[in-house]
Amino acid sequence: MFVIKNGDISCPGCKSKEFKYIDEYKHLIKIDQEYLGNMKIYKCNNCKLGFAYSFPDASLLNTYYKEIYRKSNRPHYLKDPKKSKPGSWQMACM
Ligand SMILES: [Zn+2]
Repeated sequence: MFVIKNGDISCPGCKSKEFKYIDEYKHLIKIDQEYLGNMKIYKCNNCKLGFAYSFPDASLLNTYYKEIYRKSNRPHYLKDPKKSKPGSWQMACM
């Protein structure tokens, strides 16, 4: 582990510029790399948030979640996402 002090990257949670490199982001399906890119995972030294960087392009991310993430041959497939029950993290926000 090492501490990165980089003027270009800051924690998306608290904006701290001190975080540790954890690992390479491992895509479940290889083609996802075309949308999400080659990301590395970091953990903020201040708020302990784990996050991936570099951040994917917003338009590619939008396309990925709208058209690819829930497709029938994928791990997160849902036949009818509108009928799915909210997850525990969603219930906490209600
Ligand atoms: Zn932070």
